[in-house]
Amino acid sequence: MTSVLAPDHLGPTVCVGEILVEIVATTIGEGFLEAQPLVGPFPSGAPAIFVSQCGRLGGAAAMVGAVGSDDFGRVNVDRLRNDGVDVSTISVDPEFPTGSAFVRYRTNGSRDFVYNIAKSAAARFGWSQGVSDLIRRSGHLHVMGSALSVPSAREVIDKAVDIVKARGGTLSIDPNIRKELQLDGDTERRFAELVATADLLLPSGEELERAAGVTGEAEAISRLFEIGVKEIVLKRGAKGASYFGKTGERIDVPAFLVEEVDPTGAGDCFGGAYLTCRRLGMPPSEALTYGSAAGARNVSVLGPMEGAGTREELDAFIASTQRRS
Ligand code: ATP
Ligand code: MG
Repeated sequence: MTSVLAPDHLGPTVCVGEILVEIVATTIGEGFLEAQPLVGPFPSGAPAIFVSQCGRLGGAAAMVGAVGSDDFGRVNVDRLRNDGVDVSTISVDPEFPTGSAFVRYRTNGSRDFVYNIAKSAAARFGWSQGVSDLIRRSGHLHVMGSALSVPSAREVIDKAVDIVKARGGTLSIDPNIRKELQLDGDTERRFAELVATADLLLPSGEELERAAGVTGEAEAISRLFEIGVKEIVLKRGAKGASYFGKTGERIDVPAFLVEEVDPTGAGDCFGGAYLTCRRLGMPPSEALTYGSAAGARNVSVLGPMEGAGTREELDAFIASTQRRS
């Protein structure tokens, strides 16, 4: 079976969007209404976590976004560079600070954020000569739904999609829309249009039905194939993941058995690993193994991208970790 995703040698996987530091409450509960212990800053931002995992796994990868001229920015740029990501299109804003997210976990396992994205450097970038040159040699564009609520990211994504597709590149989308990030009607419409052109869709939980606009898992999957999506991988947290192919193939995989220390970034690491493996020529079954390993390894470590793994680290993890039954 030939892959629906453009091969790695066509050019890098490009991620566009928010680059943040994340600062995490170390106690569970009603955090932030009074002083409390925190840990961080950790490099973060869904598109950055995704591209970090792509780079660590040895895929060609590049990031478009912005940081401030401060240590929160440097911690991000240094991390991505060390992961093998092309950081030449991360601009440094002289005026605005690097974006941030403060998170605390609730007793029921949910998490709530205090974001500083829209009025930070994270939102202050756009189409430039450097971005244009990158997109014209890229092989794949990955879009995080969360980035669509940032106008600068959206401008770049809108231009990039057509250019990447015209040169035989492909598009993946992770809806990744948190309840704190409300989309207006226009952004919802743009999201729906983009979904219809996705070669790979990577929803988790109820995002599947939201992307399809219908209820029921089977109904949503068939609707998405009808409107043009070519491959779907549904992430199910500790319950594993499922691959759906356009001609009815389905592969279900259990999750690896790990202690969940910090769930943030699981979906982004899973997606970055799955996509990179597919672009490197692996069949869906093998890419699912690496995606699951990347997600599970990342949740066992504190910090949104601290557990992203290299090929060697993921191979060692796979060899030494049991699957949930
Ligand atoms: P995010 O919280 O980053 O947005 P997501 O909702 O997009 O994540 P999840 O389904 O939570 O995605 O996680 C992606 C994958 O990571 C899962 O399909 C699974 O393979 C792995 N994973 C996530 N949580 C766990 C866990 N507690 N134990 C083992 N594996 C996990
Ligand atoms: Mg997600």
